[in-house]
Amino acid sequence: MIHCINDYKQNPGMRYELHDLPYEMNALEPHISGKTIKYHHENLQKDYINNLNILLTDTKFTNIDLETIIRIADGPVFYYAAQVWNHTFYFEGLKPGNNSKIKGPFAEIIKNNFGSVSFFKNAFFKAAGSLFVSGWIWLVLNQKGTLGIIMEDHLGNPLRRGLFPLMNCDLWEHAYYLDYQNRRGDYLESFWKLINWELIEKRYYEAISI
Ligand code: MN
Repeated sequence: MIHCINDYKQNPGMRYELHDLPYEMNALEPHISGKTIKYHHENLQKDYINNLNILLTDTKFTNIDLETIIRIADGPVFYYAAQVWNHTFYFEGLKPGNNSKIKGPFAEIIKNNFGSVSFFKNAFFKAAGSLFVSGWIWLVLNQKGTLGIIMEDHLGNPLRRGLFPLMNCDLWEHAYYLDYQNRRGDYLESFWKLINWELIEKRYYEAISI
């Protein structure tokens, strides 16, 4: 079970709700504006959650946790479940400040998997830049304990491939258009400064202990 989504485990009769972000709307400025976060969270994410609740009503998915729904559902139920999960994971993976330097044990893990932190960053940016459509880029852990970078078109989620997500970046234009228009590279540089590496490391240790 991925740590961040525990709150989304449904209890019988309960519906998913929009949770407050772990920071103020404008706390990610100047890298991502409060306007973007507000629109992204209070409009888009709220709509995804509302639509998911409507779709799940009186279905076999009512008492199944969100990660299982993502693994087994198809069509609109999968689409909305994945968008809700992906966005929760994304927002929680960010932290105010300038966090571009990966510190501690996780820096060593990155080096062991990618050769160096800068090579990892370059590979991540190159992959993100090559995704032609809207989608997500992910740092994942596979079943063998190796890290990898994968892209998912539109609203894909690596849980469906048996991978453990550790970090994601929203590459839909709505995530950056207000601040950067079509300049995805500039958005990625800003995103890189906001990554909550302590949480990514925590997710890693949780995933390898499963
Ligand atoms: Mn988004």
